[in-house]
Amino acid sequence: MSLTRRSSWLDPDLDSFRELAHSFCQKELAPNHERWSEQKQVDRELWNKAGEVGLLCLSIPEEYGGGGGTFAHEAILLEEQAKAGDDAWGNSVHSGIVAHYINSCGTEDQKKRWLPKLASGELVSAIAMTEPGTGSDLQNVKTKAIRDGDHYVLNGAKTFITNGAQAGLIVVVAKTDPGEAAKGVSLLVVETEGAEGSGGFRRGRVLDKVGMHGQDTSELFFDDVRVPAENLLGEQEGLGFVQLMQQLPQERLIIAVCAVAAMESAVEQTIRYTKERTAFGREIFKFQNTRFKLAEAATEVAVSRAFVDQSIERHLKGELDVTGAAMAKWWTTDRLSRVADECLQLFGGYGYMNEYPISRAWTSARVQRIFGGTNEIMKEIISRTL
Ligand SMILES: Cc1cc2nc3c(=O)[nH]c(=O)nc-3n(C[C@H](O)[C@H](O)[C@H](O)COP(=O)(O)OP(=O)(O)OC[C@H]3O[C@@H](n4cnc5c(N)ncnc54)[C@H](O)[C@@H]3O)c2cc1C
Repeated sequence: MSLTRRSSWLDPDLDSFRELAHSFCQKELAPNHERWSEQKQVDRELWNKAGEVGLLCLSIPEEYGGGGGTFAHEAILLEEQAKAGDDAWGNSVHSGIVAHYINSCGTEDQKKRWLPKLASGELVSAIAMTEPGTGSDLQNVKTKAIRDGDHYVLNGAKTFITNGAQAGLIVVVAKTDPGEAAKGVSLLVVETEGAEGSGGFRRGRVLDKVGMHGQDTSELFFDDVRVPAENLLGEQEGLGFVQLMQQLPQERLIIAVCAVAAMESAVEQTIRYTKERTAFGREIFKFQNTRFKLAEAATEVAVSRAFVDQSIERHLKGELDVTGAAMAKWWTTDRLSRVADECLQLFGGYGYMNEYPISRAWTSARVQRIFGGTNEIMKEIISRTL
């Protein structure tokens, strides 16, 4: 049973691509959930396996080793990941965000140097914006990258960094001119090989989160790390804030795509469960409360799907702006939280057991309103255009 109509942006080529994404996610992600939760990260080899079958950097041009596809390919992989119940693999950050910073903002040399390694899985990547003292207020990051000859000297601390424990390439948001606000921000690419240990780069704890236990979210420390000047993303200092603003719509749309797919999956699981479970001699589904709650949830899913499909279409045409992406991000993640919570309730005590995927849907849902820019910041962005 499908809760929503077929997305308008799909076509037969994308349908065949979905088969590949589906089989990879079912085979490589679904069975490993518990083990990854215990080790607080996916297996490092997962990245190489995904690279081998061509599932990394799907929308990066083929000349740089990518799949030569579009955001539609990324969206399908995200949907299949959600259907497999996976909340561990940080590929959306790697392929959907970091690779695009390099592709859109990097010089030709930088693209040739890094993108093929991201596409093969030789390098795992992360983006380090957030600091212990600064999250929403990105203009005020304290991490500094001060030019010294043909290097930058990087000092600072980052936290909550997805893929932080495994990343070999980290795009760091730092001030090259600490006296300036937005104009002082630059993006610096740190290659961890050689920088780790005596090079001044250190990884802190893999953080213990409420949910998404298998996804590595880490602290990173930079203590006089010498980064070659040619690792400045783009050719000029002070462009970082503009570069961030250009890429954030895709990052937020990715979150919205995941939210809708997670909602669809939660409702489908709940319909199945409530038709199997009985109480007072009848299926849980037959109680009017259950049917009404599920009717509401199915409607929330359908409305969210229509909105996210429209946002994907706009993005495929290059027309999704910051405001539109902010609307999609806050709306869908807010709905996901509500839907996951109502669905969990219909599972009774089993809904609170980690072995039931609905419990993961619920804990994973909570953070979607926080990362990628909090939902309050989304409303701030939208309200500025009113
Ligand atoms: C699981 C996880 C993964 C993450 N991955 C990454 C990553 O890969 N890279 C990265 O850089 N960061 C990452 N983050 C960090 C995330 O983006 C930040 O947590 C988020 O941007 C909020 O920043 P903060 O935590 O410092 O909250 P704060 O900015 O301190 O906000 C606290 C509260 O104040 C509110 N607030 C702040 N400013 C305003 C305002 N102007 N108006 C109204 N309300 C406001 C916020 O909405 C929030 O409710 C991740 C976080 C988590 C939890």
